[in-house]
Amino acid sequence: MIMRLITPFDPWRGELCTCPKKFSLSPYTGCEHRCLYCYASSYIKDFYKSREKKNYIDRLQKEIKKIPEKAIITIANSSDPYIPLEKKLNLTNFTLRIFKNYNFRVIILTKSSLILRDIQILKELNVVVSISLTTLKEKLAKRLEPFASSPKERLEAIETLSKYLPVVVRFDPIIYPLNTREIKSIIKELKIRGVRQIITSTYKVKPDNLKRMNNIFSEYRNLWHTLYIEKGERIGGYLYLPKSLRKSLIQQVREYTLKEGMDFSSCREGFKKWNTRNCDGSSFLS
Ligand code: SF4
Repeated sequence: MIMRLITPFDPWRGELCTCPKKFSLSPYTGCEHRCLYCYASSYIKDFYKSREKKNYIDRLQKEIKKIPEKAIITIANSSDPYIPLEKKLNLTNFTLRIFKNYNFRVIILTKSSLILRDIQILKELNVVVSISLTTLKEKLAKRLEPFASSPKERLEAIETLSKYLPVVVRFDPIIYPLNTREIKSIIKELKIRGVRQIITSTYKVKPDNLKRMNNIFSEYRNLWHTLYIEKGERIGGYLYLPKSLRKSLIQQVREYTLKEGMDFSSCREGFKKWNTRNCDGSSFLS
């Protein structure tokens, strides 16, 4: 059975999702960035062997006609639209070019500075760029997200893009204690680079992502076992940190973000009342 390419966004029927109604589109299945904490790898076979969707261009051209004007479309929720394969296949680039003929509102989600290649097309769209960043430390990023763009490259991309387009950052996930000492410095840096909103969430455990994390960060194996397996909360198929710790981490991010004059939201944490904008950056779409 061939699945539709453009589907209503439904993060695994997550009860804590506060996103506005929107669609999700990805030219690729799987992702080459190989982030240890990735959630999508639990749902998609051979996730790290990325491949293009079959007959993508033909299917996109047919399906797009059925999407209502002004709909929000996110590219992409369960892959990255700027994986290395995009350099060869240009399917994201093709998608954006087609979008120029429609009146959609678009959110691009990526960890790759390859997005800069498409800056001219992006300028012609009603778009918000959402870049994910977990750390400013190059060595930590190399261990956590081995094939994504480095923090330096991502910061440069954020700075360039934010001169022309609204840019939000997903400071996501917060992984206690790997990147929790950097909260203040990351937020300060993002303000300097022109970011409008910070979206955050804590690391949520699935068996396969915990296995990868434990293999690479074996020094935290026992701590994560205590925090997630023994004391954590199970919500919607994920293990969360104990609520008091989670709340204090999200509060810290919120406090520094507001102090720096940016908007704030958290994602699937249950603290909707603290959001100053939509949880996905879509408030900056016109
Ligand atoms: S970039 Fe996103 S989809 Fe790709 S491996 Fe990392 S977390 Fe998973």
